[in-house]
Amino acid sequence: MIRWLVIALLVSWAVVVGLAIAGCEHDPVAGPEARTRPIVASVNSDVYHRPGCRYVTRIADHNLRGYNGAAHAERHGLRPCKVCEPGERSER
Ligand SMILES: [Zn+2]
Repeated sequence: MIRWLVIALLVSWAVVVGLAIAGCEHDPVAGPEARTRPIVASVNSDVYHRPGCRYVTRIADHNLRGYNGAAHAERHGLRPCKVCEPGERSER
C-alpha cells in the first residue's frame, strides 16, 4: 500500500518537474515585459493582439501576457484580434 503511494508521489513529482522544464520557454511572459513580445493578450480574453493595437492600451499590466508569435498564442487557445489582425504575418 505504502509502496504504491511512494510510486504515485514520484510519478506526480516527475510530471510537475517535467512540465516546469518544458514550460520554461513556451509559457507566455506576464506583466509589463509582455509588451516587448511580438504578440500580447489579456488573461481575461481569448484574443491576441499586436502590441500596438488600441485594445492593448486598455489591458492592465498585471493582466498582460506576451507570446513569441501568433502560432505560440494559438497553441494557448487564443484567436487573432479583428482590429490589428496579428495572425496576418504569423510564422508558418
Ligand atoms: Zn488587436
